[in-house]
Amino acid sequence: PPRTVLERQQRRESSARTYARSLPIVPVRASGMTVTGADGTTYLDCLSGAGSLALGHNHPVVVEAIRKVLDDGAPLHILDLATPVKDAFVETLFDLLPGDLARRGRIHFCGPTGADAVEAALKLTQTATGRHGVLAFTGAYHGMTAGALAVTGNVAVRAPLAPTPATVTRLPYPYGYRCPFGLGGDTGAATSARFAASLVDDASGGVVPPAAMILEPVQGEGGVVPAPGSWLRAMRDLTAHRGIPLIVDEVQTGAGRTGAMWAVDHAGITPDVLVLSKAIGGGLPLAVIVYDESLDGWAAGAHTGTFRGNQLAMAAGTATLRHIAENTLPEHAETIGRRLLAELHRLAGDHGSIGEVRGRGLMLGIEVVEADAAPDDLGSLPPAPDLAARIRSECLRRGLIVELGGRDDTVLRLLPPLVVTAEQADSVVERLAAAWTAAER
Ligand code: PMP
Repeated sequence: PPRTVLERQQRRESSARTYARSLPIVPVRASGMTVTGADGTTYLDCLSGAGSLALGHNHPVVVEAIRKVLDDGAPLHILDLATPVKDAFVETLFDLLPGDLARRGRIHFCGPTGADAVEAALKLTQTATGRHGVLAFTGAYHGMTAGALAVTGNVAVRAPLAPTPATVTRLPYPYGYRCPFGLGGDTGAATSARFAASLVDDASGGVVPPAAMILEPVQGEGGVVPAPGSWLRAMRDLTAHRGIPLIVDEVQTGAGRTGAMWAVDHAGITPDVLVLSKAIGGGLPLAVIVYDESLDGWAAGAHTGTFRGNQLAMAAGTATLRHIAENTLPEHAETIGRRLLAELHRLAGDHGSIGEVRGRGLMLGIEVVEADAAPDDLGSLPPAPDLAARIRSECLRRGLIVELGGRDDTVLRLLPPLVVTAEQADSVVERLAAAWTAAER
């Protein structure tokens, strides 16, 4: 019989276990950026609960907020009823919303995960417009439920789902290093051309706009690909011109991660629907959409679910958002992010297997490539999945938790908490450098 925690988990849990495979450790304590395993080993955590722990593990303001709900004897779960805890969360969030959403926004609490919020956004826009098609992007990741999966770009991830519940047209995302359209990275023109073509209805020959466009301002799971501001503004203009609601998925980028409170702030655009989860719950499950009031055509009960009133998550989220805003953590993320980027560029100088270093704020990615292969016509080298996996293992051996992303799992992703110090950032790079050298041997 299995004797250890790891063995029992392997025996009992589904074969879809993911992080548990690449990170075979048994965390028993965590604080800030540090995770401690059952054997006493400590790790620097650059995964942060897949980007959901903006303040790191067990931040005192989050723990205190959770404790207060418990001490007050407030309900923990109370459907979508009005409570002071929810009121505080909504008012805190609305004070921080981008553009006109603060004034014209409506919030809907979704099931607890990012994918649930994506589903709600897709359904809302289809209800509001009375139309059905959706424009999504190559490389996109929006979650694992049927609708969210339909707008996810990665073919391997999407494959088990058929037929697709919505008609999805995929447009090219500005992924310069591996432009899927072989256009020398000029995805702006490619996106616009395909956008125009996608509006033409085969049957009538007329123009039929879709119900929505959905995009990530920085693709995360897709391999940490920031879209240029000019491209995001172009998408905003194209959709506004055609009356197509723009859904921006800031599940991963939101709440300070990219060096601004919202990644759309860098581009100065306002979405019609903003999808939020991960960090806004302070590490507990919480997901919402905030959308322009003009889309608010849902009948009462048109979109419901049991767990939409997690008071602990709302309290943790309120404390997290306030702490981020009051301590200007987006600026801190920008500063430390720049420092990390500079160090990673230096590392790239030492390793031909680093194809590109990129990112925004504290959402950073490194392309792991075959150093000795011939470059393609964009000058890009082929992905090196085995090397990437070895680097991740060598990082873990050196007490550094990192994950991979991108289509072939060949982009090493760094998502430290927003509270990471300069010293911790330097330690991350030191361990990463040693791991890279060891993995290349
Ligand atoms: N959208 C984005 C941009 C994401 O990064 C993720 C999760 N990585 C999701 C949606 C789905 O969120 P969840 O895993 O909570 O369903």
